[in-house]
Amino acid sequence: MLKLETQLSDSRLSSSRGFLSDVDEMFCRAAKLVPMQEGLAEKIRICNETYITRFGVRLRGRMYTFEGWRAVHTNHPAPAKGGIRYAPNVDQDEVEALAALMSYKCALMELPFGGSKGALKIDVGKWTDTELEKITRRFTQELSRQNFLSPAINVPAPDVGTSERTMVWMANEYLRMHPEDINAAGCVTGKPVAAGGIEGRVEATGRGVQYAIREFFATERDRSKTRLPKTLKGCRVIVQGLGNVGYHAAKFLAEDGCKIIAVIERDGVVRKPDGLDIEKLKAHVSVTGGVKGFEGGKIHYDADGAGALESACDILIPAAMESVIHAGNAKRIKTQLIVEAANGPVTYEADRILSEMGVTIIPDLVANAGGVTVSYFEWVKNITHMPFGLMERRQREHEQARLIEGLEKSLNMTFSAEHKLAFVTGGTELNLVRSGLEEKMRAAYARMSNLMAENSAVKDLRTAAYVLALTRIKGLYEAVGI
Ligand code: NAD
Repeated sequence: MLKLETQLSDSRLSSSRGFLSDVDEMFCRAAKLVPMQEGLAEKIRICNETYITRFGVRLRGRMYTFEGWRAVHTNHPAPAKGGIRYAPNVDQDEVEALAALMSYKCALMELPFGGSKGALKIDVGKWTDTELEKITRRFTQELSRQNFLSPAINVPAPDVGTSERTMVWMANEYLRMHPEDINAAGCVTGKPVAAGGIEGRVEATGRGVQYAIREFFATERDRSKTRLPKTLKGCRVIVQGLGNVGYHAAKFLAEDGCKIIAVIERDGVVRKPDGLDIEKLKAHVSVTGGVKGFEGGKIHYDADGAGALESACDILIPAAMESVIHAGNAKRIKTQLIVEAANGPVTYEADRILSEMGVTIIPDLVANAGGVTVSYFEWVKNITHMPFGLMERRQREHEQARLIEGLEKSLNMTFSAEHKLAFVTGGTELNLVRSGLEEKMRAAYARMSNLMAENSAVKDLRTAAYVLALTRIKGLYEAVGI
């Protein structure tokens, strides 16, 4: 058995605080359950490299200096994959923690990517679109010049503060610098469909949250450990953060019959015991930048957003940022199930406390993996230069039409045109993406749940996720002879 204490010598490990040390501690807990050659756990845990850039952009008649990072936690296998975050308080440790999570997430999901993450220290609200485009293009030049951006080596995607638009600026700048790269469109994912993106990428992370929760409910041995009902219908849900991930998760869960009883945003919380209208609330947040002033039924608004995490509910979905559930508030959390739509929203210490309280956590490694999964589909579409379903769509339709014809003849009846239309479908890109995503989410959840059932040392879904990820990465290292 591996002696972790001697191998994991990084000074940061001695601190129990901080996002990066939380990720490290979660890793170490799982590493104790995976037999490995001496030194390998340390090699896997540590971030391979972090590029720091400080570049100037001439704006508003003067020079402004921006600081950015791109961390590569692992490039086994290549390319390394992970979002780019634009935020005012980001730092190197945060980027490295997020890059590590990407390595473990891609391994757990069995995606052919290493883990990476990038960030730019910027308050996006202070700059116009034209200025943001100029800043993004300069950042892209720096990343590309240093080999931290390319379809074969490192492929960013949107994250907090970035969007489809940021990705299309990056892809376009990369193409300008590398007109000979026939796979240039695959240098980033999360692009608009019209610019080489894929249907269903914008909703993918929230859709993945929905599939993960559905799978938990469908897995009786896991659901029955909680006091949750057999189906999602009527479950009371609280969501923190109504951005890309939180909005889509809330929308899809409401469609499944859940009641979104509270939404927490930067400026406070809005509650409605019989369920908020998520579309109306999203429209309000998009226009005003917050939940304050929302009118849509008997709304109760209060400014203590963080405090609302402690309100009673069936499912709590932190979908904003890291470390929001910590040693200071974990004991007051009143939910059965926490679904980590954000990266790292529960600290290591809070995870321990919640586990003692019997709260189930669907960890970030799987809960928010829908984004990178559909990014994988987009990257494959870009490098194959072929839309999904193109070759087989009509063939499948003809086969289905023949089957219906045969049924009509043998049963001596005629199906309605409406029924025929519903049967005879070759599958749109969106349907194929959702099908692929559902398969990946369900399979990953099942692997975690099975491992917990088979190995009594694996006591929760997070440990199961890390053990599976680690085992896969270890296998890769061993296969190449390290
Ligand atoms: P986003 O910027 O679209 O949304 C974040 C939302 O959270 C915003 O509405 C913001 O106002 C709100 N917020 C920020 N601080 C808050 C606070 N203290 N309290 C309440 N609300 C707050 O970002 P996103 O893309 O939705 O990402 C959210 C989380 O999901 C991040 O942890 C990100 O790393 C993770 N994630 C995103 C994706 C993706 O595809 N976008 C994929 C995987 C994981």
